[in-house]
Amino acid sequence: MENSKMVPLACPCGRTLDSPPGHVPGASAELACGCGRLLDLERFDGAWLIRGELVPERSVPIGGFSLELRLRFDVQRWWFEIQDIALRRTIVHVVFSPGLGVAEVKHSDLKPLRLTGIASAAEARRRWIDWFEAGPRAGRPAVRSFRRTFPSGPPLGG
Ligand SMILES: [Zn+2]
Repeated sequence: MENSKMVPLACPCGRTLDSPPGHVPGASAELACGCGRLLDLERFDGAWLIRGELVPERSVPIGGFSLELRLRFDVQRWWFEIQDIALRRTIVHVVFSPGLGVAEVKHSDLKPLRLTGIASAAEARRRWIDWFEAGPRAGRPAVRSFRRTFPSGPPLGG
């Protein structure tokens, strides 16, 4: 479902970014670009791949999210794109509070998925994709923990 790009560390905005340190296969990392995007990286086959990108939400408030998160002083809003097997692209919205370590992730008309113990919007995206690919019917998110090898700051939340 994901669209992995083989050109490492070239943000879609055109900027070229320095590789984060680390070379453990399967490690993940995040890079913030000057354009505002957050790039979600994974170490694969000796290189960093861009596994996904989160774009800051600039438009109107989004319905369906909890008031608790929407009113948080530290709320972050992002969106990312997924592609299904028919290559249809859809937008997924993320509302995230670093202080609470809570994210809500919403795809089209589905109820938002609430995730706790989240350190970054990129982690929320990965956790949501795991859950989505496992099938919303399963009812319970398949939760994997990711090690962040390139933290952009001190650990937040629980
Ligand atoms: Zn950029």
